[in-house]
Amino acid sequence: MARLAIVGSHAVNGVAAIHTEILKASLFRSFYELWPEKFQNKTNGITPRRWLIGCNPRLTDFLCEKLGPIEQWIRSLDSLQTLKSIGLNDQSVVTKLAAVKLDNKRRFAQLIKRDYKIEVNPEAMFDVQVKRIHEYKRQMLNCLHVITMYLRIKKSPNEPVVPRVVMIGGKAAPGYWMAKQVISLICSVASVINNDPAIGNKLKLIYLENYNVTLAEKVIPATDLSEQISLAGTEASGTGNMKFMINGALTVGTLDGANVEMREEMGAENFFLFGMTVPQVEALRKAGYNPKSFYDKSPDLKVALDAVLRGVFSPSKPDKFKPVVENILCHDFYMLCADFDDYIKAQKKVNEAYLDKPRWSRMALCNIAASGKFSSDRTIREYCKDIWNAHPCEPSVTGNVRAELPSRTINEGKAI
Ligand SMILES: *Cc1c(COP(=O)(O)O)cnc(C)c1O
Repeated sequence: MARLAIVGSHAVNGVAAIHTEILKASLFRSFYELWPEKFQNKTNGITPRRWLIGCNPRLTDFLCEKLGPIEQWIRSLDSLQTLKSIGLNDQSVVTKLAAVKLDNKRRFAQLIKRDYKIEVNPEAMFDVQVKRIHEYKRQMLNCLHVITMYLRIKKSPNEPVVPRVVMIGGKAAPGYWMAKQVISLICSVASVINNDPAIGNKLKLIYLENYNVTLAEKVIPATDLSEQISLAGTEASGTGNMKFMINGALTVGTLDGANVEMREEMGAENFFLFGMTVPQVEALRKAGYNPKSFYDKSPDLKVALDAVLRGVFSPSKPDKFKPVVENILCHDFYMLCADFDDYIKAQKKVNEAYLDKPRWSRMALCNIAASGKFSSDRTIREYCKDIWNAHPCEPSVTGNVRAELPSRTINEGKAI
């Protein structure tokens, strides 16, 4: 179908710079050689009406204090850049930003208590991965990090830890068996960790059920750390990554999809990078990837996978997750074993940054300030100009951006 679509179209675009390069160099190489002029890039964006003003009234108020009324900046989001000069020289600005985040976290903690009967500490790091469950998105890598943290606390109960509430949410396609195994494993690990008195508030794991836009609008404003950990070359763009960025979450992520451009916009010092690059992934595949060799070399990975294999998280049915572990040790198509140690290292840097509250908030401010490029207004303007040859006309409603919001999302200040 993609081939027919290319033949029949006057323009073909990737949805992030790296994705466009992959289309031209690999997936549609021969079409690109035939019709190079057809190929373009249009990096995805998100609407700041829903993903900022609609879902985060308190951050919106904060921004209005610094930048003026919404109308003055919402349609030209690049103007968020001025936040950086305002905020980095004024300690009270980052303090206020931290207070907004904590407020959002407190409200989301109420939802967790109501829906999951779990009490979480709002001061703990809210570490969130919400997206469709798929092997390429590597929720399993996140789950193995949680297991690593859990086993470390069990082994050294007196070591200081940076408390985390890890939340993983998303739906699986009905027939996607492996994805459902991963959901089952996450739930099993959660039940062991959350009911272990030796763990207490040091670590919680919650599987967020029925992840949809309504839940996204609640969890994203309350997130400290956004997990964007797909294998390089597999996520075309991602848009969840952008929603977190504009809401002041920091990202731990790979050089994949729009992460690459997000990191360029905010500066490498404000992004927790790990993992192989696309050329490194290609080289490893070509050389013959053997997950077992990484398992043998990494004590953390070995300990975590062995615990799953021994039935630590499925005591009534120790073999329950054997197929999942075997799949990783024998195939591991998305190479999580190869990226595991670097991921654990990046998570250690995340902890160090979180311990330094002012530094974390300054980084969050830099994320928000640099998020302007990822407004869908910019994306749609590019489609209009470069592909559709569509010209703007005067809108019939002017001057009231709140009128552009779905009315349901204007529940200012209301409890969740
Ligand atoms: C934004 C969004 C997505 C896409 O998330 P990715 O992390 O880019 O895969 C999926 N589901 C919902 C409900 C969303 O709001």
